Amino acid sequence: MSRAHIPRRVRVAGHDLRVELVATPRGDHDERLDGSMELARNLIQLDKALEDSQRLETLLHEAFHAVCRIYDLELREGEERVVQCFANAVFQLLRDNKRLVASIQGA
Ligand SMILES: [Zn+2]
Repeated sequence: MSRAHIPRRVRVAGHDLRVELVATPRGDHDERLDGSMELARNLIQLDKALEDSQRLETLLHEAFHAVCRIYDLELREGEERVVQCFANAVFQLLRDNKRLVASIQGA
């Protein structure tokens, strides 16, 4: 079965972030993660072992972390929950509303 295409770059608020598939993304405390984001390096890393839907949602999750950094949202301990809610909701919104996506792309 072919896997979903994962873009090698995503543009987030004007910044082009590289997307890498790696064996084990690591967090600030060397903990194992599904994905990680380093804005200073314009880099998102995703666990290549994740299933397609999980990889794509994790990509959105990390992109929303970048949004938090870029706009200095300072959500602190609430950031993880906000980012995960938006990642899940936007993943479903985009997947379930192809006409909306086409309309936005054509605007
Ligand atoms: Zn996170």
